[in-house]
Amino acid sequence: MMAPPARASTLDLIGNTPLVLLKGPSQAAGCEIWGKCEFANPGGSVKDRAALGIVRDAEARGELAPGGTIVEGTAGNTGIGLALVANALGYRTIIVMPDNQSAEKMATLRALGAELVLVPPTKYSDANHFVHASRRLAEDTPGAIWANQFDNTANRKTHIETTAAELWDQMDGRISGFTCAAGTGGTLAGVGMGLKERDETVRIALTDPHGAALYSYYATGELQSEGTSVAEGIGQGRITGNLEGAPIDTQFRVSDAEGLEWVARLLREEGLCLGLSSGINVAGAVMLGRELGSEARVATILCDTGFRYLSTLYDAAWLRAKGLPVFDWLREG
Ligand code: PMP
Repeated sequence: MMAPPARASTLDLIGNTPLVLLKGPSQAAGCEIWGKCEFANPGGSVKDRAALGIVRDAEARGELAPGGTIVEGTAGNTGIGLALVANALGYRTIIVMPDNQSAEKMATLRALGAELVLVPPTKYSDANHFVHASRRLAEDTPGAIWANQFDNTANRKTHIETTAAELWDQMDGRISGFTCAAGTGGTLAGVGMGLKERDETVRIALTDPHGAALYSYYATGELQSEGTSVAEGIGQGRITGNLEGAPIDTQFRVSDAEGLEWVARLLREEGLCLGLSSGINVAGAVMLGRELGSEARVATILCDTGFRYLSTLYDAAWLRAKGLPVFDWLREG
């Protein structure tokens, strides 16, 4: 067993996450299903990588100078990543967030010292959508940059250079398929591109939650959505800058109930406490594995820690109110 190397900076703790063989999903798929443990990043999610990539890119282009401010619109995890990176480098952070995201994310952002601006959840086409509100705030704040995670391709570049390269090494260059859901699409497009550069036969699949429009886009060329999802951080309605040119070979659509079943099984059978996007990704990985056959080795992303959702996914009353199945062991509560 090799211990990870000692690090000279806390920022070097971002990335190089472990990869783990998932027993239940592998059994269900009849082949190997591997999970990349992005919850092991310092901020507890995959978005630490994009945060660091975007900040380093802005510095390199001379847009962000000492004492500067980073403004972003985010469902929460990118804000947490940006706040950590900003603290380590001496920047101020202002986060614009829809007010229907988990209380844990808001409390975490406040605890990290980010300034929080809550806005009502609206459609992207509405001028007050959190993305547009954050752009205006950045324009009005002297010395500020707008991180613009959805269309700034420094996001997916970081996944090409780090996540895909790590997966390739950790799986000894033997990967049959990769799948994950898309929020910005940085992870899906970046890992897809990075793996295809090394082996163009690796099958890249989108796993879409209900309520998102990408499944229909990759299946038929039309952006159309169906149903809804309570999953935070995923479910995209447009082709973001990061998704442009993403090498998607096939697509799956997964319901919240299917994703929650994997969240429950991974917790009870394997001791992993995860968020719903991870459960949805694992459901998609099982579908991809079944398609690829018994020799396949499929990888997916375990995006964030479940401790961020104690008041939602792990709360019986909340699950009941959303009409979702309640985990057996929560029923008494
Ligand atoms: N899962 C969670 C919990 C997230 O916060 C995000 C980021 N929005 C994603 C998945 C999707 O990652 P990406 O933005 O790279 O598509």
